[in-house]
Amino acid sequence: MSETLFTKIINREIPADIIYEDDLALAFNDINPQAPTHFLVIPKKPIATINDIQQADREVVGHLHWVAAQLAEQQGFAEQGYRTVMNCNEYGGQTVFHIHLHVLAGKPMGWPPYQERLKTPV
Ligand code: 5GP
Repeated sequence: MSETLFTKIINREIPADIIYEDDLALAFNDINPQAPTHFLVIPKKPIATINDIQQADREVVGHLHWVAAQLAEQQGFAEQGYRTVMNCNEYGGQTVFHIHLHVLAGKPMGWPPYQERLKTPV
């Protein structure tokens, strides 16, 4: 797998606003926030998409949600609520091919989370 910019963030080759790190995961604020709080929780292991998760990765993938919940508690928005999202491939809107959990908070989230595409006239 070719190296993505998230591996470069893990290796401190490019800067990021890192808010959490442990042996398995890193969290940093999104460069283009879609909510008052928007950070990403990523595994240190580079896994390209949800489709590439192996059985042996179950612990690390579950860990991403645990980290999200810890940070939600620390940052004080756990009770109010928040949205976690992991996009997969083109229709999921994935642009960086190193899985990452989006954590969005600080405003009510809409549902459904997509805007209908323009319909082709018949
Ligand atoms: P995706 O579209 O793959 O689900 O999400 C990729 C996310 O990474 C986007 O929300 C985008 O703003 C964020 N992102 C892309 N490049 C960078 C970067 O260099 N630094 C940070 N902090 N976030 C980035």
